[in-house]
Amino acid sequence: MAVTRTFSIIKPDATRRNLTGAVTKMLEDAGLRVVASKRIRMSREQAEGFYAVHKERPFFGELCEFMTSGPVVVQVLEGEDAVKRNRDVMGATNPANAEPGTIRKELAESIEANTVHGSDSDENAKIEIAFFFSPGEIVG
Ligand code: ATP
Ligand code: MG
Repeated sequence: MAVTRTFSIIKPDATRRNLTGAVTKMLEDAGLRVVASKRIRMSREQAEGFYAVHKERPFFGELCEFMTSGPVVVQVLEGEDAVKRNRDVMGATNPANAEPGTIRKELAESIEANTVHGSDSDENAKIEIAFFFSPGEIVG
């Protein structure tokens, strides 16, 4: 299995509850390495750009409101089959449906305040990484 990269966001519900370390430990325990990380306050423009694929969904406005409601930690994660590995440890979008031991089952508050974002394909991972990081900020 090839070593690849994925993009992660620790969402405002997690930073508000001081869970940056707890989430990162679960990512690291799952075999992912943090090769870039920064804490930012997302602008409305960044949130709308990042979630542009969801702009026709009924929850788009609320999602952008939530993602700008507090600090987030954007990260690049590296590991074998990183996209799948990350999505496995994240768990289902709705924490009520997530498997025990996953980040969302153990830590998420709701389908919206669901603690983490993770890229859903290698192609989107590249786009999302480039949205927040320049190549020189990623140190593998
Ligand atoms: P993410 O993209 O954040 O990693 P995901 O791929 O599991 O999560 P998506 O379908 O891409 O889920 O939805 C993006 C985000 O939009 C979700 O993480 C969640 O915060 C929010 N969301 C999705 N569905 C709903 C919904 N029905 N109501 C409110 N918010 C939702
Ligand atoms: Mg998604």
